[in-house]
Amino acid sequence: MTIRQYLRRRSERYATLAFAFLLVVGVVAGYAPRILAIRIVFAVLVGVVLAAAFWSLFEIPCPNCGKSMGSIGFWVSVGRKSAERCPHCDISVDIAVPNRETKK
Ligand SMILES: [Zn+2]
Repeated sequence: MTIRQYLRRRSERYATLAFAFLLVVGVVAGYAPRILAIRIVFAVLVGVVLAAAFWSLFEIPCPNCGKSMGSIGFWVSVGRKSAERCPHCDISVDIAVPNRETKK
């Protein structure tokens, strides 16, 4: 598995979690009393979770040096094809993930 594949897998996991959360909130909101304050709370909750899921793409740690890959992690995980490198240790995203991270 390359670092690029690792980043894609991480972002797919976040997307799945965010989708599952929205599904649950949607169902719960359907049963909640029709009070404006409660609807605002749900709206804020959804906004916060989506922002956190989006932000987490910028905080994916480099599997080589462990530091956040920042915008590189974001661009690779959303599918940009260019040859990117970790901003901290300069490892290419197209080489294999170091062994200690591939064991699951
Ligand atoms: Zn690194």
